[in-house]
Amino acid sequence: MAIEIRARARTSLLKGNTMSRSNLFMSDQLYSYYLESSLREHPVLAELRAETAKMSNSQMQIGPEEGQFLALLVKLIGAKRTLDIGVFTGYSSLAVALALPENGQVIGCDINEQWTETAKKYWEKAGVAHKIQLKLGQASATLENLLDEGDENSFDFIFIDADKKNYPTYYELSLKLLTAGGLIAVDNVFQGGRVADPNVNDGTTVAIRDFNQKVLTDNRVELAMLPIADGLTLIRKI
Ligand code: SAM
Ligand code: CA
Repeated sequence: MAIEIRARARTSLLKGNTMSRSNLFMSDQLYSYYLESSLREHPVLAELRAETAKMSNSQMQIGPEEGQFLALLVKLIGAKRTLDIGVFTGYSSLAVALALPENGQVIGCDINEQWTETAKKYWEKAGVAHKIQLKLGQASATLENLLDEGDENSFDFIFIDADKKNYPTYYELSLKLLTAGGLIAVDNVFQGGRVADPNVNDGTTVAIRDFNQKVLTDNRVELAMLPIADGLTLIRKI
């Protein structure tokens, strides 16, 4: 059953709109090989991906290889408290929650009740709902509230994947919420390659370009910008 679901989801991944994600760095053939040779997707994650693939905005979901990478990171750093800024249908929260110890926690931030209803269904199904707390509302307000409640320096890992223009705000608040040595992962820092094209100057592209420059010149952190998915920057708070 699990293998069937995984195979079906993988087929839809290769045929579906996530294909464009692979084209940024790999041929379709290499991307297929990449997944077949490295993906170990939990069956509930695969099911969630199959359900999300039916939605018109399914491209907002992270790819399964990225989820697996986030899960590995969380284990490598021994994270316990984590933040997921931009939940959508819950894939990144679920991938991280599955990697956390039993007493681990994900605080998920989103504004969309309908999409996060789907998320909650799959968190339950995977048996990790007790590790995930959903905060509906503007993510910046949620992060401010956490700081007001005394949560400064208490998070080990933060994934930033919500509205791109607010990345600088999420970054600054995340630096306060993170423990020293804690890790931020920032998604979509390549914007499909548009950040590198000086002729593209729409609001989101410019915002991400400026954000990337801000992190590069920030001596409070160490960084590595990885060519995985749509570009993922790892940022360690010194
Ligand atoms: N990480 C998710 C996953 O693994 O599927 C994908 C996140 S999706 C790219 C971005 C999400 O950010 C959407 O669900 C959207 O509702 C949410 N969002 C957009 N603006 C927001 C805001 N101001 N505050 C909180 N969430 C926001
Ligand atoms: Ca993303």
